[in-house]
Amino acid sequence: MGAPDAATQKALDHCTSRLNHSLEELKKLVRIPGVSFDGFDPSQVRDSASAAAEHIHSSGMKNVEVIQFGDVHPYVFAEWMEHPDLPTVLLYAHHDVQPPGDEKGWNSKPFDPVERGGRLFGRGTADDKVGILAHTAAISAYLNTAGRLPVNVKLLIEGEEEIGSSHLAEFVRRHREKLRADCMILTDCSNIDTGIPSITTSLRGLVSVDVELRGLPQPVHSGFWGGVVPDPAIALAQLLGKLTDEEGNILIPGILDDVRPLSVAEIKEFSTLDLEKIVRAGTQLPDHLPLRGTSEELAKRMWREPSLSVLAFESGSRKMVANIIQDGAWARVSMRIVPDMKPQKTQDILSDFLRSHCPRGFEITITPEAAADWWTVQDLNDPIFDIAARSLEKGYGQKTRFVGCGASIPFVQPLSQELGGIPAVLLGVEDPYSNPHSDNESLHLDDFRKILISQVHMLGELARYRRG
Ligand SMILES: [Zn+2]
Repeated sequence: MGAPDAATQKALDHCTSRLNHSLEELKKLVRIPGVSFDGFDPSQVRDSASAAAEHIHSSGMKNVEVIQFGDVHPYVFAEWMEHPDLPTVLLYAHHDVQPPGDEKGWNSKPFDPVERGGRLFGRGTADDKVGILAHTAAISAYLNTAGRLPVNVKLLIEGEEEIGSSHLAEFVRRHREKLRADCMILTDCSNIDTGIPSITTSLRGLVSVDVELRGLPQPVHSGFWGGVVPDPAIALAQLLGKLTDEEGNILIPGILDDVRPLSVAEIKEFSTLDLEKIVRAGTQLPDHLPLRGTSEELAKRMWREPSLSVLAFESGSRKMVANIIQDGAWARVSMRIVPDMKPQKTQDILSDFLRSHCPRGFEITITPEAAADWWTVQDLNDPIFDIAARSLEKGYGQKTRFVGCGASIPFVQPLSQELGGIPAVLLGVEDPYSNPHSDNESLHLDDFRKILISQVHMLGELARYRRG
């Protein structure tokens, strides 16, 4: 790792001297409750887009626009394209946020960002308003010192990520020319641990189905008739119990047939991570509850094997519990899927299994819900990954780790596909303590500094990028 060139060094100094300003700008964005979910005021998401656009404009980017089509939550786009001979990078983040949930669970108000114990608390601090700042702070550092960026930049800030990016593919098709780039840097993922820069190389997909059992035409007295008529709540519990063994291994025949094994390089890379500590910290798993899988198996189980969950189960209601046998029971079953499983095929196998194991006499209804594909890096040898890893190492002072992610991020696949399969680098500033989507979401402030510095290095290094 050589010393940075003069332009990068000046930008680094500028970025460091403006850290407080960047943090204040982040807080401004966090104060806008731009929740994209149905039932929340969509004008707040529009305000969030306007605030992001204003902030991006102040960083010196050109052609800043808020783009809206139909009643889709607005996107923000900007560019700086003044090097005809140099590559173009597309930088991505999103400005919408998850609902705050029950505010009683928060130690401070979700949309009133507060610094506490070296972290910034507030909805959207980590997911993903920091992603915007990671890009703009570096841009502003170069434009305020050299007066130019080292590479051509397009910036896309989405407004419907938290509700599944369902219009993103159409948006990209409508604006394909505008978005054309040689590579993408997406800041909406996690570091494997605080202070450890990480590049995510795979995401799981998701399929889910609703399953409902119907028995009696109406609920009946459990004293008069208990013991002689079938109970749909117990029947559904037994049916769901057939899906996995006690260790969580899925028992559906054929489900693992298409799963791509880990490569030798992946096994080696993953084996050096202390995942047990990370899982326990990230989930607050009590010591008396055993982890599923040995520590060597954790990476495979979280990132590269399907996992099955029952998201909700309903039969009667806890509030109005009475001595009755229910007439029906309902559950939503979800499965995370991995390379090379096929979403539709998996959904069919899951539905067929439930149907064919339906307890005798019950009427079963299976309703397919979500079916989203997994994603993985096509070619880890593309030079973009080396550039990104080196830049992060300079910012964090730690070796960059290549990791998987067990979650599904629906925007990655359509963006990459609609833009001709250009390489995508997924990084982010969340750590196992960030609690995104939940109470007390927070951002580690020193990692905030480190990602900003990394991005200054990244823009500088990207000038040398040529597709591998
Ligand atoms: Zn996000």
